[in-house]
Amino acid sequence: MGTLLPVLSADVIARYHRLKGDDVVFVSGSDEHGTPIEVEAIKQGIQPKELTDRNHKIVSDLFEKYGISFDNYSRTENPIHIEFVREIWKKIEENGYVFPQEMELPYCEKCDRFLPDRFVEGKCPVCGYEEARGDQCDRCGRLLDPVKLLEPYCTICGTKPVIREVVHWYFDLPRFADQLLAYIKGNKQLPDNARNFSLNLLKEGLRPRPITRDTKWAIPAPFKGASDKTIYGWFENVLGYVSATLEYFRNQGQTEKWKEYWFGKDARTLFFIGKDNIPFHTLFLPALLIATHDSYNLPWNVSTNEWLTFKGQSMSKSRRVGIWLDEALDLFPAVYWRYTLISIRPEAKDSNFTWRILREKVNSDLNDTIGNFIHRTLTFINRYFNGTIPEAKELSKDDKRMLQRSKALVKDVSQKLDHFLLQAALRNVTRLSRLGNKYLNEKQPWKTIKTDPEAAANALYVTAQIAKALSIVMEPFLPFASKDLRSQLNLPERIEWKDATSLIPPGHKVSEARPLFQKIDASDEEIQGMLEGVRSTQETVSFDDFSRMDLRVGKIVKAEPIPKSGNLLKLTIDIGDNELRTAVAGIATHYKPQDLEGTLISVIVNLAPRKAMGVTSEVMILAAQDRGTLALIQPSKPVEAGSRIS
Ligand SMILES: [Zn+2]
Ligand SMILES: [Zn+2]
Repeated sequence: MGTLLPVLSADVIARYHRLKGDDVVFVSGSDEHGTPIEVEAIKQGIQPKELTDRNHKIVSDLFEKYGISFDNYSRTENPIHIEFVREIWKKIEENGYVFPQEMELPYCEKCDRFLPDRFVEGKCPVCGYEEARGDQCDRCGRLLDPVKLLEPYCTICGTKPVIREVVHWYFDLPRFADQLLAYIKGNKQLPDNARNFSLNLLKEGLRPRPITRDTKWAIPAPFKGASDKTIYGWFENVLGYVSATLEYFRNQGQTEKWKEYWFGKDARTLFFIGKDNIPFHTLFLPALLIATHDSYNLPWNVSTNEWLTFKGQSMSKSRRVGIWLDEALDLFPAVYWRYTLISIRPEAKDSNFTWRILREKVNSDLNDTIGNFIHRTLTFINRYFNGTIPEAKELSKDDKRMLQRSKALVKDVSQKLDHFLLQAALRNVTRLSRLGNKYLNEKQPWKTIKTDPEAAANALYVTAQIAKALSIVMEPFLPFASKDLRSQLNLPERIEWKDATSLIPPGHKVSEARPLFQKIDASDEEIQGMLEGVRSTQETVSFDDFSRMDLRVGKIVKAEPIPKSGNLLKLTIDIGDNELRTAVAGIATHYKPQDLEGTLISVIVNLAPRKAMGVTSEVMILAAQDRGTLALIQPSKPVEAGSRIS
């Protein structure tokens, strides 16, 4: 979930600006180079490209399912990016900001390689965190020098490395210290966390940064004499924002248009990141852009979220704390995650995710407040006015005040979004629905329709306007629900922000009301159980684990129904050498016992025994299921009972 936060925040803002009529290009991409990928590929025994192709596809698909409206989600393996990065660095070298220098690096004698960045892990010399990586400590956020790690070990083989000397190329970062300081101080938009972190680093003093590596899976360095070196990931992936813009327009045949966004006087670049990535966006990227002497626009804002913890713990894939993007969608629809994550977006301080919070947000905010208000409004209009927005005659003071409050809240959502206060903006969307519900409760059109039909008409006219306003202000946060609501209101799909305060005319036909959201009934324990269920089906099995399974061909000697069990058969199976084992199998509705006797099937022999209907099942039979059909897996030629399956 942690990785979705910045992307989702960026999506909210991109959607908002599109609605406002601003010219938006929303880009990002998979960061595919570098040691984490290389380490992972080595561990999996595949080529890095194979791994990144797979990951890029998975991640792009997932972002789409979450409704992330990228104009271009590119990747750093893209040839356009590679060419762009090499050109920029060539230019920076020509401008005199790159120099070679001897340095010390950990070297693993067993793997016969240098260990930059994540190839080495150990204890953080600053905070003592045990799992610090060679390039950065995840706990204190410090950029580290890999030779300074305490108790270092090679992440591939676990060996303690030695220190060796090697020549690398450096970027002369200190030369930009004054310009960076002026940039940070002069940038009024920067949130406090990004500003303070950057100012601290500047105060501590910048050092030249080694930009080359000896790794293979990276972009080849274009420097003179560096033909066997590559560029460190953080010194090329940030340029991906530019190259993805360039690629986007080049694909449309507008080869020069990207420049409007990166050099144009009225263009603004906005970045959304987690706080572990601050220095790369507030110092490195601006320095690189300045170093080209090409007068690029520097980041206009770097909206930086704090940590999101999972049930009080920091998320960690290795320690299995957290919930991953694919699993989350197996549990609940994207709209629930979008709403919950933005409503607890850690803006000024860390925030915590729990199942209870998710349930509360979905049940009380989405379902009972927003969904309920819209559903009641549409239901009443259908029931009392034949699905037509009623005519409003002489709106009362209350009616007018409600319309004014709606207008004011829409404006407030807008102002909050202008200041990147996404949490507060979303709170106002929910508040508008809450006020609408309160207004409906006071006006009671289901009663006044008999006593004062004009008052009922006025009330539903007003709530229809609020529903319409909601269908627009919801869009950045809940695009799928907004689209659904607009179809229920029978309004065009294309919308603009300014339409949120214009009124639907009386006589406009609406559609039947359909619930937009559903409640989560499951308890904390049940949701956790669902998550574990999802995980167990997704987990990959190592070859060693697979080899430990004793899979054989067995011969069914006897098959008999288990009384009162419905679908269960008790099978006696010869697993070789006339050794007999019992299996309990839920196949009685698919196979007759007498047809099974004497047939060969596939069995797993060494599973832990299980009891069903008083019978202990010692082996498990393998069967395939396709909706209503169940088929036993049987060898295509006769073989001896007990033959190993591998
Ligand atoms: Zn640390
Ligand atoms: Zn090693």
